[in-house]
Amino acid sequence: MDTTTLLEQLYQTPEAEILTRIATLKAALGDQILILGHHYQREEVIRFADITGDSLKLAHEAARSTARDIIFCGVHFMAETADILTDDHQRVSLPDPAAGCSMADMANEEQVARCWQELNEILDAETTVTPVTYINSTAALKAFCGEHGGIVCTSSNAQTVMTWAWDQREKILFFPDQHLGENTAVLRMGIPDDAMIVWDPFQPMGGHSPEAIQQAKLILWKGFCSVHQWFKAEHAETMRQEDPTIQILAHPECSRAMCETADFVGSTEAIIQHVANAKPGASFAVATELNLVNRLGILNPDKSIRFLSPMICMCSTMFRTDPQHLLATLIAIQESGEINQICVPNDQQLHAKLALERMLRLA
Ligand code: SF4
Repeated sequence: MDTTTLLEQLYQTPEAEILTRIATLKAALGDQILILGHHYQREEVIRFADITGDSLKLAHEAARSTARDIIFCGVHFMAETADILTDDHQRVSLPDPAAGCSMADMANEEQVARCWQELNEILDAETTVTPVTYINSTAALKAFCGEHGGIVCTSSNAQTVMTWAWDQREKILFFPDQHLGENTAVLRMGIPDDAMIVWDPFQPMGGHSPEAIQQAKLILWKGFCSVHQWFKAEHAETMRQEDPTIQILAHPECSRAMCETADFVGSTEAIIQHVANAKPGASFAVATELNLVNRLGILNPDKSIRFLSPMICMCSTMFRTDPQHLLATLIAIQESGEINQICVPNDQQLHAKLALERMLRLA
């Protein structure tokens, strides 16, 4: 049966039966499979994950795994990363292959190559600029970084990686997320505003004069997360008026204004730890993806956890992975059928792995 027909059948099946079948098949497949679940996954999917985590933790776990089949409940770039870090005989599948990431789509290979070429017209990019890509990017961009002396970072290790990158060369080209680069450089590392420029890929020379590019220590790509962009500093003000004891927690993909007003800025894993370590009765308003904030509430019933924005900020592509797609993937693995396997082309594997391994050695 093809995947579309199978999914049509599964959507007619009661959810309780779907969940039971997932549990049964997962147990039957045993060590042959490893299910990785990103923190932004919905509750009825993440409960089946063998390991949950943010991008950095899951990249480490993929690299360590010996399972023949890794099912990545996350988005496309995460499954690509897992494929790069695993052996050739291992297969990585993404339950819904349409689960992408709008931020990763904001920088493509052609745009970054053009940027590099334009930088080369006014300076020797190969000796003066370290390219750093956020892990939320395509394998092609990770390969670009590997090939040009660069590296990958995550929101957990951005400061360590940027320190390494500036040790290699005097400038950093950071893509695709402007905010992670800016928040890390300014709020954690004290880089002044006049040492940064924002590169607009739709403008010649990114919209800058040769002098501005020569002076910049950090060149930030004009990209953002379509979920975290919605959290605003004024939301924090409203929360503080309602509860003066509330702590505002923000993910570094939020804008700089949001992060500047927050009491704590950290990666998904850091936010989870921060809340877990707080005293009973503490109250938090959290600026990150809705599924994670709801889970923080479940995991910390002795604390008050609120969602910072009055609007629903949920990652719609993470939400694409539902129990039906997970079950369809397990059935396909059991029957040796089509499994939505993610295969990074050979010509990208080598250099992308180089950039990822540089990061994994650091943190
Ligand atoms: S939350 Fe933002 S960065 Fe993360 S997968 Fe969704 S769109 Fe991409």
